[in-house]
Amino acid sequence: MTFGHLSAGYITSKLLFREFKHQSVYSKAFMFWGLFGSIAPDFDMLYYFLVDHTLPNHHKYFSHFPLFWLTLLLMSLFWLQLHHHRNQNPASAFIFTLNGFIHTILDTVTGEIWWLAPFVNKPFSLVAERSEIPYFTDWTFGIELFLLLLALSLWSTSSMRRR
Ligand SMILES: [Zn+2]
Repeated sequence: MTFGHLSAGYITSKLLFREFKHQSVYSKAFMFWGLFGSIAPDFDMLYYFLVDHTLPNHHKYFSHFPLFWLTLLLMSLFWLQLHHHRNQNPASAFIFTLNGFIHTILDTVTGEIWWLAPFVNKPFSLVAERSEIPYFTDWTFGIELFLLLLALSLWSTSSMRRR
């Protein structure tokens, strides 16, 4: 997935912030950590391109392991419960890790993700075989476009409400 991650991160953060609206959680900080989490797994590409050329796929790093993000997500949920949803830091950790986890789900749509890593070395993908047709004519591009349009629609609705 290329531009769908930020859109998905925006949608999740925007919709879930409603749960924190009346608590002492700031919307801009919540959105920042949500958007950052939605692209955080891909920062492993820096290491992949600049340092390590041994792995054939950057999805093999722990930063793309769903179990890694799921563990962090459960820990952040526990932290959030301890503070009864009223503290900025656990709320930021929650949206960051949730969007990191969603990133791995979205990457499974367009590529291979090692869902049971580090215990099982087997990739899973919703795409049986990467076709040779240009990406913008692929059905998975439609998903990215849908996410983008949904994010834009949410953004325009909320910016109209602010006026
Ligand atoms: Zn990725």
